[in-house]
Formats: sequence, structure tokens, C-alpha cells
Amino acid sequence: MFEGVIIDAGHGGIDSGAVGNNLLEKDLNLKASNYMYKRLQELGIPSKVTRDSDEYLPKDKRIRRVLGLYDNNPNTILISNHINAGGGEGAEVVYSLKNDSTLADMILENIGDAGQIKRKTYQRRLPENPNKDYYYILRETGNTMPLLVEYGFIDNKNDAYKLNNNLEDYVEGVVKAIAEYTGYNYIPPNGSISNDYYTVVKGDTLYSISRRFNVSIDEIKRINNLDSNILTIGQKLFLTDDIDDNIDNYDIYEVVKGDSLYSIAKRFNINLNDLININNLDTLVLQIGQKLLVPKTDNNNNNNTYIVQKGDTLWSIAKKNNISVNELKELNNLSNNLLSIGQVIRIK
Ligand SMILES: [Zn+2]
Repeated sequence: MFEGVIIDAGHGGIDSGAVGNNLLEKDLNLKASNYMYKRLQELGIPSKVTRDSDEYLPKDKRIRRVLGLYDNNPNTILISNHINAGGGEGAEVVYSLKNDSTLADMILENIGDAGQIKRKTYQRRLPENPNKDYYYILRETGNTMPLLVEYGFIDNKNDAYKLNNNLEDYVEGVVKAIAEYTGYNYIPPNGSISNDYYTVVKGDTLYSISRRFNVSIDEIKRINNLDSNILTIGQKLFLTDDIDDNIDNYDIYEVVKGDSLYSIAKRFNINLNDLININNLDTLVLQIGQKLLVPKTDNNNNNNTYIVQKGDTLWSIAKKNNISVNELKELNNLSNNLLSIGQVIRIK
């Protein structure tokens, strides 16, 4: 039985860690750790932190804290967050001599998907005793399953830029790997999909976006009518084609014992994220008796309505149906001109 994740922000206080490009490692480690903690909490994955402020933790104190958080329980994962230095570019994950590379590989893969260069996962031995780990955070942390994640090189210009702008995306990759490894449902962070679409940023590929949002590459290509795999920065990608804000198209479902968001999504054949968005949920925990909007099972449209398609505007719909924009807005009680795909608009 999995107990929890120990999140360790390396360095802190008078120990700044590596320095470069006007960045201090300790600050980035703390930012990464705070974000990781927030996300694990959101996903319901138990976790605790060694520090949540700019605190100096000398070796012994840090080890005591790591061992104390979950009472040295063997069913814990320790993630020590660090930034590298010394000439190089990209991310590395160090795993301990007592563990295999499975989780380390998953983490590095996901950080790569988030746009960072993947260097390697590896073990490092103490020169004077090759049976022992080189880093104390791997060597002296008891029964935990420790991993040291280096998100990039602080003294490399490209990495410094990425660490400034994309660190949380890389940490999100670690979060996703932990969820998959421990068997928790992974759900992307709120706000990643705004207005039903995702905006392509530097380093994105169809493959990375597909993994991040749990939508297949074929599905993304189908929804967006893409005939190549080439993306451009700033391009808007729709990740679902069935978001629907019109309440008339939904039934109310009352949560019963044993339900989970996942099981409900499956039963009503709706994407988990859509179910969350439609119901404006900010927690994944359901209460028995809670009422959720779910798609109507038989959805018969009549001639008086129009379902908003990709690329539609109020103006284009008005023109198509020989009606003015103002009449359309009045008919539908719209206070602004924003439409969402799948929205049902009254045209008569
Ligand atoms: Zn460090």
C-alpha cells in the first residue's frame, strides 16, 4: 500500500545551491517543490514537504526530516528537486542503487514531453565505497525510494530561460509519472485548457501534447483537421470536440455510493476533463447525493437550433441564418459574443 511522496526542495537559506544567469538553485527547487505539492494534493496523492520556505536544512536535519515525515515507511517515494550546473543542457534523474530505473525513466520521459532535453537516468556510486550511493539524499534516506531530479543547468543560457518559464511544466511531468506509477488517476492541471483549446508553446510536439492531455495523436489531428504533424508556436489546438455549455443538453445525475468521476465519465461516454469542466469541479472527491450534469443519452435536435462548430462566430451564424447578431443575442440571452464549440444556439 502506497503511503506518500516526500518532496524535498534541495538547498535553502544560506545554502543557495548552484548559481547562474541571475538565478539561485534554492529558489527554483522551492518553486518546483511547492508546485509539485499543490498538484499532488489536487490529485489526492498523499505528500509532504521537507521545507516550504527559504529554510536552511543542513544534511543531518534534512535526513531526520525526510525519515520523520512518514516514519521511514518503505512505501514512500522521495523526490529531491535540484537544478544542475557545470556545463550541460537538459534534465537528468538519479536513482538509487537499491532501486531499478522504472520511475526515473518515466519521469525523464515526461520532462522530455514537456519540452526539456532528456539527458539520462543513472546511478552514481561513492568512489571510496562503490556499494553506496554518491548523493546522501539517496544514500542515507532509509527505506524511502529516493530520486534526485535535475531539471536543467542553471549556468546554461537555454536552460536558464526554460527554467524561468517552463519549470512547472517539467514538474507536471514528474507529477504525471508519479500518478501513473502509483496507480492514481492523472488529470491535467486546471487552466491548461482555456476556452476548449490549448495554445502551442515552444518545445511542444503532437506527441507531448497527446501524452499530457490524454488525447491520442489521431484524435487531435482529427479534431483539428491537421494533415501533418508540424505545429507552430501560438497555434490553437482543440483537444475535444464535444464541450457543450448548454444546460438543455444535459441530464442531472445523482452520485451514488461507489461512483467516481472516472466511472461516471465512462458510463456517460464523456471525457473526464469535460465532465470536470462542465460541472466546474475543483475537487475530484464526490459526495453521495451530489448532482452532476451529464450528457443526455438521446439528443434530438430540431430546426430551430444550431450547434456551434469550430470557427463559428455570432456574426457568421447570424449571416447563415438571415438574422441579425443582436436578434441572435436576444434570442439566446447572450451577454457577450463568446461561443463555445458544441453550444446550442436558438436561431428562430
Ligand atoms: Zn542541488
